[in-house]
Amino acid sequence: MVMEQEFLKQIENIYGKENANLIVKAFNFANEKHSGQTRDGGEEYISHPYNVAKILVNMRADVPTVICGLLHDCLEDTNCTEKEILDAFGEVVLNICVGLSKIEAIKTARTKNNEENENLRKMLLTLGKDARVAFVKLADRLHNMQTLSVKSPEKQLKIAQETLDIFVPLAERLGMNKFKHKMEDLCFKYIYPKEYEETKKFLEENYKKSENILNDIKNQIEKLAKQYNIDAQIQSRIKSSYGVFKKQRQKGKDHVLDIIAHRIIVKEIKDCYTMLGAVHNLWKPVDGRIKDYIAMPKKNLYMSLHTTVLYPTENGGIPFEIQIRTEEMHIYCEYGMAAHWMYKEQGSKATKVQGNSAIYNMKKSLSKNSSNVLKSDESEEFLQIIKTGFYVNKIFVFTPNFNVIELPEGAIPLDFAYAIHTNLGNKCVGAKINGKMVPINTPLQTGDFVEVLTSSNSNGPSRDWLKICKSRSAIAKIKSYFKKEKKEENIKIGKDILEEQAKRKGYSLSKLFEDKETLGEIAAKHHLLTLDEIYAAVGYGGITVSQVLGKFISKQAQREKKEKKLIAQQENANKSSDSIIIDGHDDLLKKVAKCCNPIPGDDIVGYVSRGRGVTIHRRDCATLKCLEQDRIVETTWNKQSLSEFYNANFKVVAKNASGVLNSISTKIADNKVDITFINGDVTKSGDAVITVGVRIKTREQLMDLINKIKSIPAVYDVLR
Ligand code: MN
Repeated sequence: MVMEQEFLKQIENIYGKENANLIVKAFNFANEKHSGQTRDGGEEYISHPYNVAKILVNMRADVPTVICGLLHDCLEDTNCTEKEILDAFGEVVLNICVGLSKIEAIKTARTKNNEENENLRKMLLTLGKDARVAFVKLADRLHNMQTLSVKSPEKQLKIAQETLDIFVPLAERLGMNKFKHKMEDLCFKYIYPKEYEETKKFLEENYKKSENILNDIKNQIEKLAKQYNIDAQIQSRIKSSYGVFKKQRQKGKDHVLDIIAHRIIVKEIKDCYTMLGAVHNLWKPVDGRIKDYIAMPKKNLYMSLHTTVLYPTENGGIPFEIQIRTEEMHIYCEYGMAAHWMYKEQGSKATKVQGNSAIYNMKKSLSKNSSNVLKSDESEEFLQIIKTGFYVNKIFVFTPNFNVIELPEGAIPLDFAYAIHTNLGNKCVGAKINGKMVPINTPLQTGDFVEVLTSSNSNGPSRDWLKICKSRSAIAKIKSYFKKEKKEENIKIGKDILEEQAKRKGYSLSKLFEDKETLGEIAAKHHLLTLDEIYAAVGYGGITVSQVLGKFISKQAQREKKEKKLIAQQENANKSSDSIIIDGHDDLLKKVAKCCNPIPGDDIVGYVSRGRGVTIHRRDCATLKCLEQDRIVETTWNKQSLSEFYNANFKVVAKNASGVLNSISTKIADNKVDITFINGDVTKSGDAVITVGVRIKTREQLMDLINKIKSIPAVYDVLR
């Protein structure tokens, strides 16, 4: 078999001479590999890959895709090796071919129950690597459906059902409506032969009956376009028989004109609206049937103007629908995802495609007749996904190398960049979506082509990126960047943030951080070792400001509350100072000093304060040294009027080790002394200082207790 001259001319026209030569090379390669093989219909095997390539050329697939159309059965059905393909056509072609043969491999390695599912699953996985695999597979399947008549009836039914269950939804998912309708009609023919014949007959008969009206409509629109000086192409075609069949089943047989789709295809968007107005001048529009999918594209980004108008007849008029769209919208409607490749290849001479999604939001149920195909529960969800073409909360976008990247809904080009490579994210300075420059926080849509712009002069990620990125992995990578690369800066930033926030809340950071115990707790909780690491973690966003400050502030509040309570307690207990006698000053108001808190038995002196009576200090109290010495008076305890209990307190300086607090309180309890409070702190040098309040009867008892506490190994000293 040789390639037709006509086809050769076509590919030279579309792809240029050099590329056409490559395609010819692939044809010859496949021709040789398949030599001697025949198809079920008796023709040479090469006619199949050749026709697949033709289908791909007609949908303007790119050169590697067309080449793969020719080579698609080589790896499976001939002695061809991967290396041969690699050497002759390069890596891109090889990868697509390998993807295709994986789908085939699954088919031959079927398991009993889950066979179809595995197939679906694998296909989607393959699709996940390069969407072109799916284009070739769809073209392959379309040609197989077109040549299905030579197969046995059982095979026909099986293949048609598989196509309806798997490949039609796949075409739909990729927005390839032309493929979808062609395959759907062929499936219809084999699965419902009777209904197919009926519908076909209905369409043919009615088409003939109304041919005059249809031609008149077409002519009038053409005239109209000329009148308004608009370059328009008018297409009137019979709707797909499966579509009409489904509609009739739902709504009953409608008027004959409903089987025809009229399309006006123009150059520019403004022409769409001009033509809409012109059509409405000519024919009366039906209320509520005008839809502007240009101003408000469908979720899948389908764009067109739809209107239903009345064709006048003697008894009032027959309604018929007209769709108006630009050439690029039209191509997108027909080829969906594949349209991107068309324009990518010929980007210089064609305008860009406007729609940018290929997933069609069509939820037509195909499951009714195929529930017997899949039985495993586990696979239900997956089946649903491919049948509806929907992934919940996920989007799929494309790299310039045709890879499909899965991202969470709302993801932005930065998420995309990080999904490809950490460095691509770190060096990102901008992005293009479908060839257009966009801000890096633009949300991506499924089907977008995303290109990341980088610069070697990039300063690296910005902290704001943490707020705008949607994918966990991007956020983790940005955090890790700040953690590693910007340690010094992070420490400074973290410290500044903490200081500023502490100040705003009315605290001083350095004061708060004197609480080493709390600092230690925070560090341990977040697996940090030093204060700098805590600052750095706040700086790069590993821990939040409130995770740090909140803890200190609540602890501080607790301490303040305790201290107030303690002061109040002591003041209450030692209020009665009748037990103190002051020589010659009996009438004076007497008060026990808080600094040394003397108890009966202590050697005491009085200090005559100005206007506030006499304050009683222990003779060894440090405060006294700072007071006016001539105001100090001798004083003694009145042994007749002692209270039963006195509150006293002392400070224990000890090693900051676990169990110290416990051994102190145990020692006190062993001596049958009541604790009124106990409060721990850590000094700058790292020692524990534990302030203890006790209720004691005598000084001897207190001194005895203090000596016993001093004997605890971890205790350095006890101070009154
Ligand atoms: Mn094939």
